[in-house]
Amino acid sequence: MTTPTELQAAPTPREVWELLREGNERFATGNTAAPNRDTARLQQLTSGQNPAVCVVGCSDSRVPVELLFDAGFGDIFVIRTAGGCVDSAVAASVEFAVDGLGVDLVLFLAHEKCGAVGAAVQALESGDMPTGLERVFVEKIAPSVAQSKIRGEHVEFAHARNGAEHIVTRVPAVAIALEAGKLGVVGARYRLSDGRVETTYENFGD
Ligand SMILES: [Zn+2]
Repeated sequence: MTTPTELQAAPTPREVWELLREGNERFATGNTAAPNRDTARLQQLTSGQNPAVCVVGCSDSRVPVELLFDAGFGDIFVIRTAGGCVDSAVAASVEFAVDGLGVDLVLFLAHEKCGAVGAAVQALESGDMPTGLERVFVEKIAPSVAQSKIRGEHVEFAHARNGAEHIVTRVPAVAIALEAGKLGVVGARYRLSDGRVETTYENFGD
């Protein structure tokens, strides 16, 4: 029997989110604790994983999820694609995190100066659509671009909220766990400029 970490022991999705935000504050202020990164922790995890959080985010090398939340091995189930696009493999991975691993929180994490979001904005403004594989970024990110224009929001702020809302409606396991009070869904934007994560959407099923 392994000892649950602080994140795993948090009793509610709200408290998991609070602990993540505290970890981000330690990171942003240069006071990291770098928890759960020793060999004892690796040994604990050989028998299985029990992460508290699933993060859907961007592959951008400037947004390493465990580092910016000051977390370690076994803490966060991370799904990264360029732009945080949600296709069927990403949706199935979220479903596995919720139903198979029992995470308490799903976080959609957008970030400042996202190249995929920028490419989508440029294509939609110019009408010049990419013809190769990168067209998928325009198709997946266009709803966030449209919302940002209508609401007058920063596009990555809108993308963080829209991404989280989309996961709620796209992945039935998420909606069911939310309804049952077992899960929280949050959208947030990571600021490259100061290392902080700002919340754009919170849904704790109440
Ligand atoms: Zn990005």
